[in-house]
Amino acid sequence: MTTSHLRRVTGLALAAAASLSAPLAAAAPAPKAAAISLPADDMSPAPGASGDGADELARRQLSQQPFAPTNVDLFSPRFYPKAPPYPKAPPYPEGPPPTQSTEAKIVRQLKKTFTQRFHGNEPGIEAALALYRDPVLKQKVPDPNLRASLVVLKGTLADSSINAIKNGPFTAISWVPLPSGMEGAHAITGPDGKPEIQVSDRYKNADFRHLAVVLAHETLHQHPEATNPANVEEFIAHSLEALIAGQLYLEDPGLATQGTELARSINSALLLRVNDRDTHGNLRLLTANASNITPGGGPFATFVAPADNGYYAPHGRSTPTPGNKQLRSFVANVTGQNVSAFDDATVAVLDTHQKIFSPRQIIQLARILQLVIPKPIRGSGG
Ligand SMILES: [Zn+2]
Repeated sequence: MTTSHLRRVTGLALAAAASLSAPLAAAAPAPKAAAISLPADDMSPAPGASGDGADELARRQLSQQPFAPTNVDLFSPRFYPKAPPYPKAPPYPEGPPPTQSTEAKIVRQLKKTFTQRFHGNEPGIEAALALYRDPVLKQKVPDPNLRASLVVLKGTLADSSINAIKNGPFTAISWVPLPSGMEGAHAITGPDGKPEIQVSDRYKNADFRHLAVVLAHETLHQHPEATNPANVEEFIAHSLEALIAGQLYLEDPGLATQGTELARSINSALLLRVNDRDTHGNLRLLTANASNITPGGGPFATFVAPADNGYYAPHGRSTPTPGNKQLRSFVANVTGQNVSAFDDATVAVLDTHQKIFSPRQIIQLARILQLVIPKPIRGSGG
């Protein structure tokens, strides 16, 4: 590998370089809803209100100004300068000590997650757990925490990441020493000319559900030949990874408060995603209903804003790259729409067609991030 192949992967805290993806011959998969069934939030609907009524109340909350954090320590110091700095040198205090990250504990958490996600359906749970023991995945991803990170994507909007490793094109996922403060992981072209994923060993003890967000992002980059500092591919990957995090956070809100660099980086991307909304309360990427979607910090005008000075310039200033199976599947799961490439057209679809979270679930995510949530305004709320 060379440093020119490095690419930034997770969170929006740092600038990134990204590059070309190879086109895939395979046909786009049929759009389907992600299998994951997310728990309803704990906001009790008004007496007699239907689910739709509760969503309408949530929408009236979401149509209001971006929500301010009550605890800026959950986020990146780039977003909130009062937040503690990220660790700068090894040993990185990322995650619990290694003794707490035993394989037995990882498997227990994996089983717990699948039991919740598949509503106790034994065949579904077993099939998902079997992926962790899959011989091909064991060979390509020998590390238990990294393999659990991949497998836990089963049933999420990033389900197709698993096949991208199991059946190619990626040949391996492994830990490597990567420079601190630069990136968390990257996809590179290995010696055999095929892509592989390398993750910074400073995340070795991170929760595998946070690492899952990193891996899902990386599987979108599969032909990392060149770097391009103004790359729409990187922006799309960031916008999608925040939604994957949202799915995992709704299952376990405790992921937001682990206090690690990775947790805070992912929280920050999710904060931008939850707070970038239009006046109808819809999640957006390129426009917002306020001038700063990080109240008390930033300022960032939209989800794209932190990226705009780093790696993505929307509307004609970015370089499109060919799509792949993962892109088509992720976007179909989020929007129900078909897309073909990492380009402005796909950004537009993601900007206007988010359907994976209900208004109540977005409010729940705001709660998980400990944001100040206003009361519903009266009236139709748009
Ligand atoms: Zn990337």
